[in-house]
Amino acid sequence: MIRRAHDEEPTIGFQDMGLSRTMLKALAEARYKRPSPIQAAFIPEALDGRDVLGQARTGTGKTAAFGIPLIEMLEPRTRGPQAIILAPTRELTQQIVGELKKLSLGRDVSICGTFGGEPIERQIRALQRGVDLVVGTPGRVLDHLERRTLYLGDIVHVVLDEADRMLDIGFRPDIERVLRKLPEPRQTLLLSATISSDVRKLAYRYMYQPVEVNLSADEPSVERIAQYYIPVAHDRKIELLQHLLRRDRPRQCIIFTRTKRGADRLAERLKRTVPGVSTIHGDLPQSTRDKVMRGFREGQVTVLVATDVVGRGIDVEGISHVVNYDIPDDPENYLHRIGRTGRMGKDGVAYLFVGPDQGEPLTAIENLINKVIPAHHVEGFAPARETRGPSVRELYNTASSQGLDMAVR
Ligand code: AMP
Repeated sequence: MIRRAHDEEPTIGFQDMGLSRTMLKALAEARYKRPSPIQAAFIPEALDGRDVLGQARTGTGKTAAFGIPLIEMLEPRTRGPQAIILAPTRELTQQIVGELKKLSLGRDVSICGTFGGEPIERQIRALQRGVDLVVGTPGRVLDHLERRTLYLGDIVHVVLDEADRMLDIGFRPDIERVLRKLPEPRQTLLLSATISSDVRKLAYRYMYQPVEVNLSADEPSVERIAQYYIPVAHDRKIELLQHLLRRDRPRQCIIFTRTKRGADRLAERLKRTVPGVSTIHGDLPQSTRDKVMRGFREGQVTVLVATDVVGRGIDVEGISHVVNYDIPDDPENYLHRIGRTGRMGKDGVAYLFVGPDQGEPLTAIENLINKVIPAHHVEGFAPARETRGPSVRELYNTASSQGLDMAVR
């Protein structure tokens, strides 16, 4: 079953795409009757030879969206593979190989998957037998390049699948190293569940005038997210967070901190009183991050403490709350952070903790989103150990304009 990216049935059929009879037969055999929306939009552009940047999640038929054109564009066997597909995990690599095999039914196409966690010798032997399409995780592909067991001189197509996830788990340097080794001109196809600014940067650097296929019907709508700022003294933030978690009982929640150490410290403190807490940031080994993300996707982890770099690419439907525990350094990050909730048409809440000296960054965020974020005063919770004077916000603004640090203490 494929999950449609939007409700409209695409009017274009596989038979309208100029596909070969062999491909149409393979599709019929796979029981793919109609292209999914991402396929309807992506395949014609890719067949035209253009670079395509596609927004699509697993389950939307994204593998066939790039697999069909790749197979259709294959030339008779060359010395090395003609296309390389980079994917974040071993599991996804294997899935892609399976799907490509299904799509190449009726032709002599050799496909090789290469990933860590399996002896490299077997994969080397497979590569030596001659392959048309190679699918691999960036680390293992680099390993082959260093051993000179993978020849990239014949590559004309490269696919970056789940680009956001690859960046999340820290593959950027490896991806770039592979991309720099590929011959030009070539076609670059990029697929990503979210087109974050990191993904965009990668696209601009390595793609040539990419067409963007953006099925934004299920994009997070910022309008759907209730946003509040909560005034709080720095030394009361943990208490405020615990109070909110008890009060709101979020289905799933991401809490953003500014630093990795801050994330670790906060997670440790929360674990003492809150169940289902975990943390994710760039210093953790990939295996740990994968495990944490799996736990979050499957729902065992309900409160995830994250830093911006890792957290903002997270695409999990159950997220009901985003807490900006530390105000983001860059107002743009605020948008990335709160976009983790309100997905797939669901409502979300985003809280922004604002310290007495943070009137300015709050205003910078409001300017960026072009709206005033209302204050939320939490009943039964004092924003500072002792508050006095008119509104806390007024105090903050005066404090920051006068350079006073902790006016509400
Ligand atoms: P993917 O998003 O690539 O992980 O694909 C999700 C599932 O949908 C896979 O099991 C595919 O085999 C299947 N699929 C892909 N395209 C179609 C289609 N046009 N019609 C029916 N099933 C499809």
